[in-house]
Amino acid sequence: MGYSQQPTEPLHIPVEIVSDEEMALIEAALAATAGPAISPVRFQRTARSIQSITLLSKRRLSSETGPIGDIEDAVGFRPTQKRSRPAYSFLHRFRRKRGLSVTDITATEWCEKQMEFFLLLGKPEATKAMKAGVARHAVLEEEVVRRVKVRVKTPEDAWALKFINFMVGVNQLLFDGLTRELPLLGFVEGIWMVGVIDEIRMPVTETEKSPTLVDTKTRARASLPSEPQRRNGRLQLMCYKYLWDNLAADKFPSRQFFDFFALNPHWILSEDIRENTARSGFPAETLDDLIRYFRNACRTLPQAHEQLLLRYELQEDHSLLNEDQFEYDSDWLKGQIQGSLEFWMGEREAKYTPAEERWKCKFCQFASVCPINTNNSDGNST
Ligand code: SF4
Repeated sequence: MGYSQQPTEPLHIPVEIVSDEEMALIEAALAATAGPAISPVRFQRTARSIQSITLLSKRRLSSETGPIGDIEDAVGFRPTQKRSRPAYSFLHRFRRKRGLSVTDITATEWCEKQMEFFLLLGKPEATKAMKAGVARHAVLEEEVVRRVKVRVKTPEDAWALKFINFMVGVNQLLFDGLTRELPLLGFVEGIWMVGVIDEIRMPVTETEKSPTLVDTKTRARASLPSEPQRRNGRLQLMCYKYLWDNLAADKFPSRQFFDFFALNPHWILSEDIRENTARSGFPAETLDDLIRYFRNACRTLPQAHEQLLLRYELQEDHSLLNEDQFEYDSDWLKGQIQGSLEFWMGEREAKYTPAEERWKCKFCQFASVCPINTNNSDGNST
């Protein structure tokens, strides 16, 4: 299995540092981090998956039914270690009830100060380019799943549907070799982290069955992304691999999960949810029942492939601009996550984007209020 880079594209497609549209998409990622997770259900289209129902945790901007956020381990992490959480930290103030999303990690990698502004001043308006990117992901998802709506009455119901979505998606992957928009969850450095993988591919007939994690970025112009944008995309995919491998290694501390999200494991799920879980092949009365199915499903999973794949598509005609295949780097990822957590945990002040990437400020909606532009700050506010 291999997803080779297109060998000659870089000669023909100009590298664009950043565009308004691209920045809008990055800001869309910021916007997608706001709001609680939950809602509709999906049916896979294949004959096998007619019995499969699942609720997707949708991105906020793709939701027609209300605000929906991303519900979004590996070597060197200590998943059972608990970090202290200052009551005034951004994590405590803004992510206490739903965990940190992978998008939160990537947005802080882009610029922590921008994330701080976003949290304190509010999310940006959705632009045409942002909507186009979200619509494209919806189309890709519809190629393999069909959504249906399910009534969610309690947080336990909401989480139940996320777990069903995961299990149905995993079944689809195992039998069809492809699934999309798969929700993930994991305990990272004492913090619950959530995310949604764009796409997972797995050869169903070969001996080597490592799933390959894929993320598709849409671009408004036929240009290649700048290195900071590619780096940000790599970080995102590495986070997903971390979460996937953690689940495959059965590192899911159920008690901490119920405690952190203040869930009652024995609460009877609503009738609508129970009907859907039964129809999906996972008859369950409570969230605790469902998590047993979930953990059994996780135990069947192989570790994700070390090679990860970023795809860049042109919004206009969905043509492929480039593929960036790269290797998972657990040490680099560890440093990135730990650095991000320092910000989220209130262990230090937000950093400005580094001097060599200060061009990002030209496209930042908070530029007029950012101290980097108002008091000759060198931006080294650590
Ligand atoms: S103006 Fe620049 S440094 Fe300030 S928040 Fe925006 S991107 Fe970050």
